[in-house]
Formats: sequence, C-alpha cells, structure tokens
Amino acid sequence: MKYVGTILLTLLAIVIILIAFAAIKAVKIKAKPSTKEPAINPTKEEADSYAKKLSDMIKVPTISLRGNTDLSQFYILHEVMKNNFPLVFSKLECTEIDGNLLFRWQGKNPGRNGILLMGHQDVVTADEPNWDRDPFSGEISGGNIHGRGSMDCKSTVFSEFQAVEELLSEGFVPECDVYLATAVDEEISGGGAPKLVEYLKSKGVHLDVAMDEGGAILKGALPTMNGWCAAIGVLEKGYIDLKVIAKGKGGHSSTPKSNTPLARLSKFVADVEKDKPFKAEISGPVYAMLDNAAPLLGFPLRMVLGNMWLFKGLLTKVLPMVSPMCNAFVKTTFCCTMAEGSQTPNVIPSEAYIVCNLRPSPHQNVEQSLAVLRKYADKYDLEFEVIHARDASACVDYKGEEFNFVKKCLNECYPDAGVIPYLMTGGTDCRHYEEVADNCIRFCPIKMSNEQLAAMHAANESIGVDEVAHCVKFYKYYIQHHK
Ligand SMILES: [Zn+2]
Repeated sequence: MKYVGTILLTLLAIVIILIAFAAIKAVKIKAKPSTKEPAINPTKEEADSYAKKLSDMIKVPTISLRGNTDLSQFYILHEVMKNNFPLVFSKLECTEIDGNLLFRWQGKNPGRNGILLMGHQDVVTADEPNWDRDPFSGEISGGNIHGRGSMDCKSTVFSEFQAVEELLSEGFVPECDVYLATAVDEEISGGGAPKLVEYLKSKGVHLDVAMDEGGAILKGALPTMNGWCAAIGVLEKGYIDLKVIAKGKGGHSSTPKSNTPLARLSKFVADVEKDKPFKAEISGPVYAMLDNAAPLLGFPLRMVLGNMWLFKGLLTKVLPMVSPMCNAFVKTTFCCTMAEGSQTPNVIPSEAYIVCNLRPSPHQNVEQSLAVLRKYADKYDLEFEVIHARDASACVDYKGEEFNFVKKCLNECYPDAGVIPYLMTGGTDCRHYEEVADNCIRFCPIKMSNEQLAAMHAANESIGVDEVAHCVKFYKYYIQHHK
C-alpha cells in the first residue's frame, strides 16, 4: 500500500508540473496589442469611389445556374469593368474564353515565374425571402455595400483590378508578370477556371503563386478570440458526390415486407450519423492553424492550444464534439443531400437512391473514406456509384517564402491582425491552378464580421466600404513588394 501511495503522489506531482509548465507557456505566448501604424491608409474619397464602382458590379446579376449557357449578364459585367478599369483593359494583354477573363501584365523580368490574382464573376441565386433590400441594388448604406456578390466574391475581383488600375496609372512596372484571372462558373464548379489553366499551360506559363478567395480577416473566428485574425487558406478538403442505391422487388404498399429500399437507405444514413466512423486526426495544417491561433485566444484555451505537445490527444477527441466546423477540421464529413424513391405514394420502389456529399480529410482520402462507408453499405446490401470525387488539394508550404511574404504584407498592412494557416472545408477555383502554380493561396485580405461571413450564400450579404478600400491597398502593396 505504501508503494501505491508513493506512485500516486509521484503521478500527481508530474501532472501538476506539466500543467504549471503549460500555464507558464500560455502566459508567455499571449499576443500583445500592436502599436505599429498600418502601411496602408486609404482616404475617405477613395473608399467612396471604390464603393460606387463595386456597387455597379453588384448591380449586374451574374447568377450561375447549372445548364444555363446564357453569358449575356457576364458580358454586361465586362462592360462595367471596362468602364471601371480602363487602363487594365487597354494596356494589359487580355484573353477572353467563353466569358472567362485573363489579363497579363508584363513585368521587368518576363522569364521569371509570375503571380496571379483571381476571383469569380458569378454569384449564387438570391431567392431567400428575408433580404432587407433588393439583392442586386448594390445599395451603399450604413458603411456597407449591400447585395449578392458584395462579399463572394466581387469585392475580391474589384480590389484586385482596382489595385492594378492604380499601379498602371502611377507608371509602376512589376518585377515579374502579374496575371488577373476571373471565371464565370465557380459557384457551379464549372469549366471556366480549367479553360484558363489550359491556356496558361499552352503558353508555358508557370506561377510562383495563385491567390484566390478563401480565408479572410475575421474577428472572433474562434471562441475567446477577441481581435482580428487573418486565416490564410493553405489547402482545401476533398470532395465526393456518392449515389447510394438500394434495390428490391417493389410491390404494393398495402402488403409491405420489411427492409424495403428506402428503409435500408434510412438505416444506412442513421448508422453513419450515429457512429461518425471517420478517423479524427489533427493533421499538419490543422496543427499549425491551432498552434498559430493559440496566442490570440483567451485563457484557458490558449493554454490548451499553445501546448499541443501535451493536449493533442485530448483535442483530437474533443474537437469533433465542439462544433460542426471543428469536426470538419479533423474528420471527413458526411451529409445526405438528395433522395428519390417511388414516383407514386402507394408503390414500393424497386430501386431507391440517396446522394451523399462527403468532404474527405487530407489524412483519410477518397478511397479510404469510401472504404469506411462500404462496411455500412454492405450491411444493408447497398450499391455505390461515385458521381464525382477528388482528394484534398496539395498544401501550401506554410513555412515557405510565398506564405511568409503574404504574412509579412499582412503584418505591415494590418498590424492589428494575427495570421494563421487555415484548412478550407469548402472548395474554390484555386485547386485548378495547382498544375501551373507552386503555391495556391486561398485568401482575400479583407476584414469581415461574423455576421457578414454568415451571410455568404444567404440573405443580406454585404461588405464594408472602408474594408474594401483597405483590401485594394493591400493588393497594391502586395504587387509592389513582390520580388
Ligand atoms: Zn466564392
């Protein structure tokens, strides 16, 4: 008994020492408020003129719908852009492929790898009944520009083009070639970006970086985070659309046997949702994201995330329960989105199906994630038909030159914001550029509130007038200082 007591006391002492050590580190790493002056300082006149130009772009309803090949709204948008950015359209080499636009601004060293700034021209529908104003009015009020596309992602496209327009007017010549690319069908995962990539390949173009929408500068992005944090998307999760099919004998619904096709599909979905069988893991980029976020957080979360060497195991178990977003960071996600059975209320279907959308993790790819589901499907005699699948994208080297350069620009332009690498749970056009770009960075340097973020693809989308002005100036700073 004496020995047991000694062992317990020793263990307790070790735990106390470890926690004390972790607490001391948490105090040490706390981010201090910056007193540095930002390198960018747009005037009110500039901000107002930008808002008006962006508003004009929002007024054109460039809605993407599957199956719709009418590009007339996009050509109207091009006219608005020509008016907004006369120097971009007259001085740069422009290639238009089916409404998708690519501009090349020749740098001082044409043999060098270029950089590319991108965003999409299309928007999702705006049919939600609870819009406070016409979604395509482009209204400017209360310090914001309102409307569908104001955030996703005409503000990105506007800011990139405006930055180049101003630099052209100032006679600036970049060190390397600078490209502007904008596709018409990102929201429907269309072929616009791949067409531009094919064109770049045919010209033998290779890029150091392609920078697209994705992360942004967010306030309170994580619990207990009070300040601003620039979340730079360094990779995106994979994607699977999976049709799961159940076959049966059919028949009249007045004399049913059990385990009809729809019942088996329901059990399959219920089992997967209950078991959450995908592997939880804090992969490299998620580790880096949490580790870099730690100094920006309040105590005791700062202590936990700032000491991953001690708490990683615990976090891996806890994160899936914290929120759907935290779960998506560490696991493949599964969601049933479509279903079809019989066409008639009193007929048992001889075949029924559901469509599931999965987002495979970097650590559990398409094949491995499907293998997990296969075990459940076999239990209920279900067949799989993979409609579309791709693995997670490559990951930007978040310790590398290009990432660090964005970080440096952020430190200069937004000294009040922390910077973290970020795993994108959704997709962007940027993945197509992996073929021609060494770094596909998914990040728009714009500040947005949580409410604005929540309005993406929902009612009352808006973006701040002042925030757009800073975004323009950031892109200018980025192009001016990129070597
Ligand atoms: Zn978008």
